[in-house]
Amino acid sequence: MAQSAISQHVAALMGAIPSQPAAPTPAAPEPPRSWSFIDRRTGETVQYTCMQGCDIDHSREIGRRIFREDVWCWTKPEPLTLPVNTNGYPEEFRVLDTLIKVEPWSEKVAERLPFAVVELVDDHFVEGLDPDGLETVINTLSARVEEMRATHRRLLAVREEYMRRGRTVRHANGLEFTVIPADSYDARMARDVRELTMEDGSVWTVGTRGAGSTFAWQPKGGRA
Ligand SMILES: [Zn+2]
Repeated sequence: MAQSAISQHVAALMGAIPSQPAAPTPAAPEPPRSWSFIDRRTGETVQYTCMQGCDIDHSREIGRRIFREDVWCWTKPEPLTLPVNTNGYPEEFRVLDTLIKVEPWSEKVAERLPFAVVELVDDHFVEGLDPDGLETVINTLSARVEEMRATHRRLLAVREEYMRRGRTVRHANGLEFTVIPADSYDARMARDVRELTMEDGSVWTVGTRGAGSTFAWQPKGGRA
């Protein structure tokens, strides 16, 4: 097939294909900032270009007399916190912050290339991670998260069994109700279903399946 025939063929095909909506163009990363400082040892003016994505303001370094090794860049994520108890009461601590840092004049040569730091919990760091090191940390945490999911499933099962045990709640008039799960057959088939406040002040859904059978349950996800 001649070249022009192929082009026509392609053009015809293109005409038949409905045009896709253009994907939004990702915002181009801002170009790294360039600035200079005066080397405190030599008096020399040093031109410096930040690491891409650096979010340090550097105002205490720009144009100042400083030691080269005091210059570094990093990019930090939004902090994530969880209530952690170290002292008898829970406080919000940063957890699992992962930042990218470079120290271009570090005495540790490996730190002169961008590396990652994972802050496991406030001020406890795993440092100096190259991409393989970071991946190792991620895989370790990911395996632990899977295990936490399994624990979550076990917790649900253990609680359900615990709550299914022959517990009873009492109404102020002396009537006792057998506690059953909300999704149990008895709960679904019960008659005279209504809310009732028990003698301890807790509110339950109650119902009956006939003479002498009085049941109480909590809505799914409600208090137990
Ligand atoms: Zn910077």
